Amino acid sequence: MQIENLVLLMVEAVFYFVFMAAILHMRHRIGIGVFVATLGVMHFLETYLAAVFYIQLPFGVISPGSSVLFSGKLMLILLLYVKEDAAVVRAPIYGLLAGNFLTVGLSQFLRHHETIGAVPGRLADLAFVDEMGWLMLWGTVLLYIDSIAIILLYERLGRRLRGNMAARFLLSGVAVLTFDQIGFYTALHLINGVSLKVFWGGWIAKMLAAVLFAVMISTYLRFSRLSPAEASARPIADIFNDLTFRERYEDLLDRSGRDALTGVLDRSRLETEAERVLTAARTAGRPVALLMVDADDFKEVNDRFGHLAGDTALRQIADCLAKTVREQDLLFRFGGEEFLILCDNLSPEAAFARAEVLRQTVADALRRPDGLPITVSIGVAAGPADGKALADLIAVADARLYRAKKGGRNRVVAADEILPSAL
Ligand code: GH3
Ligand code: MG
Ligand code: MG
Repeated sequence: MQIENLVLLMVEAVFYFVFMAAILHMRHRIGIGVFVATLGVMHFLETYLAAVFYIQLPFGVISPGSSVLFSGKLMLILLLYVKEDAAVVRAPIYGLLAGNFLTVGLSQFLRHHETIGAVPGRLADLAFVDEMGWLMLWGTVLLYIDSIAIILLYERLGRRLRGNMAARFLLSGVAVLTFDQIGFYTALHLINGVSLKVFWGGWIAKMLAAVLFAVMISTYLRFSRLSPAEASARPIADIFNDLTFRERYEDLLDRSGRDALTGVLDRSRLETEAERVLTAARTAGRPVALLMVDADDFKEVNDRFGHLAGDTALRQIADCLAKTVREQDLLFRFGGEEFLILCDNLSPEAAFARAEVLRQTVADALRRPDGLPITVSIGVAAGPADGKALADLIAVADARLYRAKKGGRNRVVAADEILPSAL
């Protein structure tokens, strides 16, 4: 019987999910309201089941209300967020909150009725109305916290597990459902006096539900991305389909601040990024360095081999610099064939050494079409000695770059005190 119960429960979870995923999937045709309203209607059944409907499973006593419907609802709210965005998911979160408050409010009036037995053999269960009131109030508050928590957690995990949707859903689900189980069980225990067995049984069932729903959701997401119906409804082949609103935004922001030719940060990002780095360094008392890099005789590359060859050379220079700087250094395209590299926590001596490495690496690695090396000259400014503000550092680096050019190109100029022997 217990195994039968378990199988039935899983069938219920699959049935529930397939149904809900289907109406979510058809949202562009039938409207998102169908999904949201259905989620709301299921809430009533869920509350009823969680209050009184318990079954015995091999690992404990559980209610399909919590394990299938509640866990499923949270995961579906997260799925809705992933498929749409924060503005859309707000509707069911606040809708459930409002609807539950209304239910509790109305039940305060309903309990004062004198009811009659209109249906033979059945009387109104006023105890349930009362119970539902309190349980619902608490469940409502928990659900609100859970819904927001699961989305925030999912976002957090995104930075580490960007590609792994199943793991993100699973971990967010496991954490939030565990939190919820502790919160909900405490209320059940206080109001209905249910035993500790119910806690563990319910927790295991919720964990199983998290696994099952995470697997179904990631399968659905994979399937929906391939779905020709959706692809044709949205002309932009939607690789962002499984990215969230914030990820889309961050992605856009990231790309919008990048130089189209070389892919390094563009000048529009310089002000804000530099301000952030310089302020942090100043507060922590760390040295900073600014390297201004300018390609040598670049006009000649353009004139002799054409502008396209010049573009290729520029891309190669940018790639070479990007590979050679430290991970925390910021590389900007400052002008036509000029780059700025901002290095936090780098002493003047180390900055000079790093500039030398960059210069040497470019000279060794890159060739013009005629086989001559492509070279760069670099002016190094070091903060705080050469200045604290970005403008001051740029002015000093620029002046030193000019000296490097005057001195014959393919060289690094830093403060006079820093002699090559510092290497
Ligand atoms: P120097 O060694 O003194 O720096 O000589 P230079 O020829 O590099 O002199 P300058 O800095 O004055 O010239 C920069 C040249 O870079 C001018 C322009 O034709 C070229 N340039 C700037 N931006 C681009 C670009 O996006 N693509 C290409 N192909 N060339 C560019
Ligand atoms: Mg130049
Ligand atoms: Mg230049």
